This record gives sequence, C-alpha cells and structure tokens, in this order.
Amino acid sequence: MYEIIAQESNESKTGKRFLGTRSCCRFCGNDDQSAFGGQTNAHTFPEALGNKVLFSLDECKSCNNKFSVYEDSLCKAVGPFLTLGGVKGKKRVRQTGRSNGDSFIRHSDQDGRDIQVKSTGPTDNIFGSVPGTNIIQLRMPVEGDKFIPLYAYKALAKIAISLLPVGELHRFKGVLNSLQREAIAPVRGILRVGFSCAGP
Ligand SMILES: [Zn+2]
Repeated sequence: MYEIIAQESNESKTGKRFLGTRSCCRFCGNDDQSAFGGQTNAHTFPEALGNKVLFSLDECKSCNNKFSVYEDSLCKAVGPFLTLGGVKGKKRVRQTGRSNGDSFIRHSDQDGRDIQVKSTGPTDNIFGSVPGTNIIQLRMPVEGDKFIPLYAYKALAKIAISLLPVGELHRFKGVLNSLQREAIAPVRGILRVGFSCAGP
C-alpha cells in the first residue's frame, strides 16, 4: 500500500505557515533572488480551494504564474463541491455555471449559507420529497464548468511536489518537467486520481 511521506494541514486556526526558503525554486531550479515574490505570493494549495494559511517560499513567480492555469482547471473540476460546501476563495464562494446560462448553483452573498439553484424546466424536477419518507430530495442538473483534465491532474501533482522533502525531488523529474510545459503529461498512460475530502 501507500506510505504517507508528507502531510500539511490547511486548517485556518494554525495561522500562516511557510514551506521552504526563497533560495532556490524547487520546480525550475531558479536561484535568482529577484525571481521570488512576497511571502504569500505562492499558495501551496490553491486559494480557491480555501487555502488561506499555507504558502510555498520555494516557488518562484514564473512557476506560480504557469501553475495558475492548472489550478484553474482543478477548481473547475471540483467547482460544484466548492459551491455547495461554501468554500471561500479569494473573495467569495465560487459560483458553478454562468449567471446567464441555463443553470447554476451559487451562494447568496446576503444570507450566509443560502444556496440558490437555477435550472431549466419545472422546479419539481429539482426539488421534491422521496415518496413514503420524510427525506427531501434535491436534484442538481447543473452542468459543471468545462476544464482540461490533464491540467487538473497537474495541479494535484504540483501540490504533491510542493510538499515533498527536497531529497525526494530527483525521483520526480518527469513530473517536474511536465509542470513546465502545458501539453506534456506527467506519466504515460491513464492518469488516475483518488480524491476525498472531509470537514468539521
Ligand atoms: Zn520556478
């Protein structure tokens, strides 16, 4: 099975925490001091996934810009969960689907956890009860935002690389190389992702 070699909490109660040092970018090897941004420039996990506390000092500005493309796809891939879970990104809880499209899920800005769903067709198709029970049933016929699966995968690979002990990085040259160029896959064949989440 698998052995966990690195793990970091995204828990906001811990306050800001910083990984690595601004002496050498762990992704591209740049050791020019001017290549690095401020302490909170590079989020280890995307801010849109709710990370306000964990930052990578050893991720240069250039790599950070490149990776934002991958992170956008990852956030779109899990967009409905972020919306329904009320995960706050940079400014607010993200909306899934376009306001002027056929369907969306969004949080109301006024009333905290007030979730709004828009869909075409009768409302009964969205909201009802399971016959013979006291269970309320919601159907969410909301299309997620389009995203590029390869990029979403690479965003996850980037997070994993961010957490690795520096001494392990040489084993992941293929992944590191793929992060520098958008079209390159980290490994050959099917890219598999196991995903789980839990909250208080
Ligand atoms: Zn870099």
